[in-house]
Amino acid sequence: MAFKDFRKDFRAQAHKFVDWMADYLENIEAYPVKAPVKPGEIAAKLPSAAPETGEAMEDIFRDFQDIILPGMTHWQHPGFMAYFPANASPPSVLAEMLTATLAAQCMSWQTSPAATELETRMLDWLRQITGLPDGFHGSIQDTASSAMLSAFLCARERLHNFTTNHTGLSVTGQHTCYASAEVHSSTDKGIRIAGLGSGNLRKISVDETFAMIPEELEHAIESDLNAGCLPTCVVATLGSTSVSAIDPLRPIGEICHKYGIWLHVDAAWAGSALVLPEYRWMIDGIEFVDSFVFNPHKWLLTQFDCSAFYVRDRETLVRTFEILPEYLKTREGDQVINYRDWGVPLGRRFRALKLWFVLRAYGVEGLQAHIRRHIDFCQQLAQKMKQEKDFEIVAPHPLALLCFRYNPGGLTDEALDRLNAQLLEDINDSGQLYLTQTRVQGRYVLRFVSGSPYTEQRHIDDSWRLIQEKARFLSKM
Ligand code: PLP
Repeated sequence: MAFKDFRKDFRAQAHKFVDWMADYLENIEAYPVKAPVKPGEIAAKLPSAAPETGEAMEDIFRDFQDIILPGMTHWQHPGFMAYFPANASPPSVLAEMLTATLAAQCMSWQTSPAATELETRMLDWLRQITGLPDGFHGSIQDTASSAMLSAFLCARERLHNFTTNHTGLSVTGQHTCYASAEVHSSTDKGIRIAGLGSGNLRKISVDETFAMIPEELEHAIESDLNAGCLPTCVVATLGSTSVSAIDPLRPIGEICHKYGIWLHVDAAWAGSALVLPEYRWMIDGIEFVDSFVFNPHKWLLTQFDCSAFYVRDRETLVRTFEILPEYLKTREGDQVINYRDWGVPLGRRFRALKLWFVLRAYGVEGLQAHIRRHIDFCQQLAQKMKQEKDFEIVAPHPLALLCFRYNPGGLTDEALDRLNAQLLEDINDSGQLYLTQTRVQGRYVLRFVSGSPYTEQRHIDDSWRLIQEKARFLSKM
């Protein structure tokens, strides 16, 4: 059978799809926020092998609606308050449609000059609107985890004057890294992959706000130095995953400066709040920072994947990653930026386009209004919860994450853990609200994160009503 060129049907099919997409966004509340399916249920509906001959797009699309959609969790649903958001927006979707159509692989300047130059400009716009310093160089990475890995590799190479890429680590000694006890697991993972050994990650104690205690950091560094180790990197977190703790950058930065240690800041979620001038206190001490990451794909209306990774010294980054076989050389050489040398993957999607669309469509004021609204929703909920004696807020909530548990009194800690685990299941089975859990000081608690672009006041009110109803019903059983 001859190869089929689908361009002839593309226009009509695309129009149909766009109609479906607009309906989906308009009616998103009609879907259960968390997919109500069992493991294997979707796979059971899929043929075990690819079709021998091509199928009609109508059939494929029908199966998308009948088989795939019921197995989707709807991250843009106004009742999505789980994990951290991965929010998107119509301007971002439109840009992704263009990106998908152009289908450019933007590894080098020459492979799409506009993609490179737009990325440089967009990361500079983002830098300015978040109050990051002049002289920070940004690039887009897929995730904060990849940015973290890049930071460890840079720290390792800088420490050894760029020799370990060649020699490997066997001759270097024991590298130690430091982060708060609340740090995200991508830190452990990055350290593993960078060959530094996750056993060499020192988890530093936290204070009553769950922020790293700088004196404890210095103490750990001193004791490692005395033991002949090589302190390599400190990770400070702005907005920890469990409870949104903010590590104090200035004292941590001063310690890193004193001992010559790379300081990476993981602001994966909370970094978007820097669009609000009133939250810039979080980056007091930024002058000591070597690298910084935050995810516009979490809370800045730019859909996954779009992680903004900044470094102070671009030379260190490029020397860590650059590799230039003949087949990648281009006429422009190093007169231009080749983002292939700024991270692990060679191939790169054109991700700056969606940032351009989002930043222009909303403007700084629009983005600020979006973030402020979610912080306000969370603070309102906290106020309401404080008035109910049978609910406990278990951690400070400076942003849009609230950790709480239901505690009707008279139960042991184990029984409370079980009660709250059941509460979470019941809430999530409702299809209206989706929360996740964590442990705070050993206690099982629920996390509520406001972040969906379509959440309104009524959704917050309904969520609070649902939480109380489910909790109190359970305690009567
Ligand atoms: N750091 C923090 C604080 C996070 O909360 C997360 C994920 O939620 C990550 C890192 C990892 O993010 P990514 O999925 O972009 O790798």
